[in-house]
Amino acid sequence: MKLLKDKILKEGKVLSDTVLKVDSFLNHQIDPLLMKEIGDEFANRYTDEIITKILTIESSGIAPATMLGLTIGAPVVFARKRKSLTLSSNLYSSKVHSFTKNETNEISVSKDFLSADDNVLIIDDFLANGEAIKGLLDIAGQAGANVIGVGIVIEKGFQQGGALLREQGIRIESLANIKSLENGQVEFFE
Ligand code: 5GP
Repeated sequence: MKLLKDKILKEGKVLSDTVLKVDSFLNHQIDPLLMKEIGDEFANRYTDEIITKILTIESSGIAPATMLGLTIGAPVVFARKRKSLTLSSNLYSSKVHSFTKNETNEISVSKDFLSADDNVLIIDDFLANGEAIKGLLDIAGQAGANVIGVGIVIEKGFQQGGALLREQGIRIESLANIKSLENGQVEFFE
């Protein structure tokens, strides 16, 4: 997606050979017009599928997932990283190791919002080692839901997550796929 790649080249900050910071439009400040384009692009890529629910993880998956939900008219459920007084039972849960924070979180979704009747599209901001997506797939599996695919805003194709998931036959659509962050430069796969 050219608009997204141009934005990454203009505003992305390469923090190391493995980490890209995009807090001016996705991870802290949000660019709503770009998010709307991203939502439309996910809708186009999965136009052949009937999606009854969009599943993502807080916090940075919520903006692109919501824009997709607006475009296709489907509700968005986000897995929560912390339990609360209002979310403590009747849950599907899975453990996710965070690539950027180097910590393991239990993520949870209320059983009220995901069921065996759902056709689910999973959305997230980044795909690195695939841990977040594996956790969301686990949760969808516990619900007995049918996962039709995954939509990723920025895949780091030099890390293993995308290959591992595709090997399992999971459809992954990423809107920008990074080949390398070496020497402080962002290089994309064609
Ligand atoms: P994975 O679970 O695939 O290893 O990592 C994906 C998760 O880690 C995403 O939800 C994202 O929040 C975070 N993440 C991974 N790599 C990056 C990165 O280079 N930059 C940013 N901002 N977040 C990342």
